[in-house]
Amino acid sequence: MSFTIHGIGIASGIAIGRAHLLAHGIDEVGHYAIAESDLANEIARFDTAIATVRKELEALQLSVPPGAPAEFNAFLNLHLMILNDETLSAEPRKLITQQRCNAEWALKQQADTLLEEFEAIEDAYLRERRADVMQVVERVLKVLLGHPGPLPAESSSTEQRILVARDLSPADVMLFKQHTFAAFITDLGGTTSHTAILARSFNIPSIVALHHGWKLIRENELLIIDGTQGVVLVNPDEPIVNEYRLKQHQWDLERQKLQRLRSTPAVTLDGLRIELHANIELPEDMAAVEKCGATGVGLFRSEFLFLGRDELPSEDEQFEAYRKVAVAMQGKPVTIRTLDVGADKSLKGEQSLSTNPALGLRAIRYCLAEPQLFLTQLRALLRASQFGKVQILIPMLSSALEITQALDMVKRAQEQLRDRKIPFNDNIPIGGMIEIPAAALAISAFTKRLDFLSLGTNDLIQYTLAIDRADDSVAHLYNPLHPAVIQLVAHTIKRANRADVPVAVCGEMAGDVALTRLLLGLGLRQFSMHPSHLLGVKQQVLRTSVAELGGVTRKILLSEDSDRIDQLIEQLNA
Ligand code: PEP
Ligand code: MG
Repeated sequence: MSFTIHGIGIASGIAIGRAHLLAHGIDEVGHYAIAESDLANEIARFDTAIATVRKELEALQLSVPPGAPAEFNAFLNLHLMILNDETLSAEPRKLITQQRCNAEWALKQQADTLLEEFEAIEDAYLRERRADVMQVVERVLKVLLGHPGPLPAESSSTEQRILVARDLSPADVMLFKQHTFAAFITDLGGTTSHTAILARSFNIPSIVALHHGWKLIRENELLIIDGTQGVVLVNPDEPIVNEYRLKQHQWDLERQKLQRLRSTPAVTLDGLRIELHANIELPEDMAAVEKCGATGVGLFRSEFLFLGRDELPSEDEQFEAYRKVAVAMQGKPVTIRTLDVGADKSLKGEQSLSTNPALGLRAIRYCLAEPQLFLTQLRALLRASQFGKVQILIPMLSSALEITQALDMVKRAQEQLRDRKIPFNDNIPIGGMIEIPAAALAISAFTKRLDFLSLGTNDLIQYTLAIDRADDSVAHLYNPLHPAVIQLVAHTIKRANRADVPVAVCGEMAGDVALTRLLLGLGLRQFSMHPSHLLGVKQQVLRTSVAELGGVTRKILLSEDSDRIDQLIEQLNA
């Protein structure tokens, strides 16, 4: 049966391929065949997962504080015993070989058998231990799912795979960077969630907020993903597949045409030079930056060096990553944002207990609470400033006091390097992100103390409209064209320009071609966006005369409702 599901398209383009369902819990585990030649690898993958969980539990045992209740140690001992028991650690190995199935499925089957045996036990205390067995099984499963094995054996090598998940954390998405999926689709998530931003960085069509996709789609079903329209076609008929193949071809041709603009300077029809910079997560993204011809890196989200790993990156490791990017940009600006963890991006083992993590100890607040970690990063950044035009960007600042505290930390890091006789650029520019309404409204505190500003519109919208950017149930309310958002953006650009402090937009608004003219009309001259959006925005810049935008832009600023603003934006883009 063919049917269609609608969600929110977060990365444009069309993909046609077979579904690969990503499971998150014991009841959602997928079952697929493993080729004879891959069986040894599959068993090794299972063994590695058991060893990883053993290490995790042993590390937890070592970190139990001296005064902790005795039950805590007993509980960890019990879990280690369950893990080490042959029924859990050896039996699934046999099942993998006998049934030629994936490790997750073998573990699930063994867990089902064990649970049945527990049900039959008369002793109530022992029966209750079934919960402990399940917890250990889920721990192993989590490790296995984070390191998926080969793709289902029935997929032929010419067919593309589409990842179907209920939800993905930014750390999950990082793991999938090594896989060659043709598209991502998830049931949860909002347009500017970090998962969506990362998925976009893969340059493949992606859709979030499908709500029921995971339940309705089966493993290996044929899917068409239209990331531009936010539509998934499940089991489409052949004529539909052919129609989409044609659309896919046209899309590819348009991308190729845009590629010709790579070296063209971004200058408007009336001669204004516009800086188009790129956003990156890791030094590996520099290939995409090079390909799109960005004139700088406007946002290096450094926290991605820290996610999904057990230990924090050392000063040297960070220095190397920052240096690489600085060198690759050959004297063009490289704006590196200090660690922005918290909210939907948490360090391994630091799941927030806060009821409102987006309003909690996030970004600069976290760094000021962890001075050693912050100083380590600042030293690495300062050292890298010797190798290019590095600028430091501080996220989520909200007040003059916080700016002073952050700048004091930079001074301390500088003193530490001086003591160590390590050279760095004394005049490194320090900027702040404007992503909290308080910062936009108290802008003079920022223009007086900082060398440059960058509008983080993703968070500015979240905090202005009180809409969790990662929550699909309110994703329809997330609106860059809400009059309050436009007022805050306009106010920040105007006041920064007046104070002669460079200002950029580095949120997703900067990469939305429909908003390029609005931002130019508001006085913006520097945009930073995902590399895949840059050439489209450049094309729009080349077609625009800023002098002609004033009238409609003023009308937009006077409008009170979003529908009217939508109409005016259409007029602006006509
Ligand atoms: C923003 O908030 O707009 C931004 C660029 O930062 P991030 O998306 O990483 O929060
Ligand atoms: Mg932000």
